[in-house]
Amino acid sequence: MVDLSDRGKALENEWFHKHEKELLRKARERREARLAKERDAEREKQKQLHFMKCPKCGGELAEVEHEGIKVDRCTSCHGVFFDAGELDELLLKKVDERRSFFRKLTGLFGA
Ligand SMILES: [Zn+2]
Repeated sequence: MVDLSDRGKALENEWFHKHEKELLRKARERREARLAKERDAEREKQKQLHFMKCPKCGGELAEVEHEGIKVDRCTSCHGVFFDAGELDELLLKKVDERRSFFRKLTGLFGA
């Protein structure tokens, strides 16, 4: 003979167990979503802070296009920075083209 009150308790426990699991899962999801949002916000803040800033002195970078290659030049320390792929492009040029590029670059920036 099955004790009905025991059966009732078992069902109740099962319900709470399932319910608790669901609550924990939802809480974990909310926490992960919040952390992801904080990470994105921090990344965006860093980007805003460093975008077009010189990595050496923190000065403003100005983009200059020269012979089809874009370089970023610091308006403060005059450092010159290449974006990904642009240095490769320059290295693929013929020696005299490369020489002329740098000559013009230093002529442009020397002033
Ligand atoms: Zn600089």
